[in-house]
Amino acid sequence: MQLEFTAGERAFAKEVEAFFEANLEPRLSEQVRRNPSYVSKEDMRRWQKALYDRGWIAPNWPEEHGGTGWTPTQKFIFEEAYQRHYAPRLSPFGIMMVGPVIYTFGSEAQKAEHLPAILKSDVFWCQGYSEPGSGSDLASLRTRAVQDGDEYVVNGSKIWTSGAHHADWIFALVRTDTEAAKQQQGISFLLIDMTTPGIEVRPIISMDGGHYLNQVFFTDVRVPVSNRVGEENRGWTYAKFLLGNERAGVAGVSKSRMKVERLKEIASVETGTNGGALADDPEFRARLGEVEARLGALEIVNLRTLAAEEKGGGVGPEASILKICGTEIEQALNELLIEAVGVDAIPYSLEWTRLDTNEEPPVADRAVGLMSEHLLKRAATIYGGSNEIQRNIVAKHVLGL
Ligand SMILES: Cc1cc2nc3c(=O)[nH]c(=O)nc-3n(C[C@H](O)[C@H](O)[C@H](O)COP(=O)(O)OP(=O)(O)OC[C@H]3O[C@@H](n4cnc5c(N)ncnc54)[C@H](O)[C@@H]3O)c2cc1C
Repeated sequence: MQLEFTAGERAFAKEVEAFFEANLEPRLSEQVRRNPSYVSKEDMRRWQKALYDRGWIAPNWPEEHGGTGWTPTQKFIFEEAYQRHYAPRLSPFGIMMVGPVIYTFGSEAQKAEHLPAILKSDVFWCQGYSEPGSGSDLASLRTRAVQDGDEYVVNGSKIWTSGAHHADWIFALVRTDTEAAKQQQGISFLLIDMTTPGIEVRPIISMDGGHYLNQVFFTDVRVPVSNRVGEENRGWTYAKFLLGNERAGVAGVSKSRMKVERLKEIASVETGTNGGALADDPEFRARLGEVEARLGALEIVNLRTLAAEEKGGGVGPEASILKICGTEIEQALNELLIEAVGVDAIPYSLEWTRLDTNEEPPVADRAVGLMSEHLLKRAATIYGGSNEIQRNIVAKHVLGL
């Protein structure tokens, strides 16, 4: 196996490095390191526009639609630099999720209207899949869309809608046929402007005290039929295509690598049970070694998936393996980080993770933000489809059980 970069790849890595040095403000990078949730929509837009101007906003899109045409190794180099520089994570709903659905299944008018706006970050999206009572059993969703002339009238509610309070548009799964033989056959995929009358967004506060999630209510919301992606009642096919992309995006290898580095730094100054540095504590070393080994294996699987995608294979059910392993490794690292700083993890305020905070944290700087990250990422094994459901998918569609 070729593990060394070629001269061309090393030159590309330099180019990437120069881009981050020139375009990522240290202030923004520091906010991401402390808590990425406090990156403002405007900072986000500015950063994404810098990537767009360089032609690097959508590495996973085909070149004809604005992708980069990078090899898996180039994507790997870029992603590694992205995490190492603490660049703000792209809002995933446009680039990772609805964009590929639109260029694959959308009408020419939808492509012309939405793809440039997504690439330029002029429009932010959110994902309207889950409903109260329809999460894992998503096909049971009840938000209803009834056609009236050249519009659908939408009634119902979506829940756990990340970023709906910032979003300009929502892509939503709606029921268009209540009589279909199978629940999956009565669902359509709609693109809905969030400023349409009848939409109400109510906040849900997360365990760490932050506002990321919402419940979105639809009351007689009129949506042009031309905003339906693909065929009526075929929405489940498009929904599943999107979920494959969503899961592949959550492997988070480079991000976890950064956590390993941070953990090692902390362990070099914290004290272990034997009175020496935590980094020399045999039990700690064994636990860190185990997570690092799992991360190494995940990295190989991730590269294999990227390579298969490159050959036109698309992201298959194997994406579920990335989702399961990536999120479990991230949670294991978060727990180790908490344990490494010990009691300093306990006093905790989300406010301390804000760059412009007026409060002085009563703990070492290295401990700030670890608890909020730990609490927030408890949800990682739930969102994007819970890991139990991913195991069912792997059993059925990968192992053929
Ligand atoms: C932070 C966060 C952000 C989210 N963002 C969005 C978003 O932007 N848009 C959106 O549409 N949704 C979003 N979700 C919703 C997410 O997709 C659902 O929470 C998830 O699919 C699980 O559904 P549920 O919460 O209804 O749990 P349930 O489906 O009620 O599951 C409860 C438990 O039972 C288990 N379970 C259920 N069925 C099975 C089974 N057949 N076999 C084994 N175990 C099973 C589950 O694994 C879980 O542990 C988000 C969720 C979170 C936590």
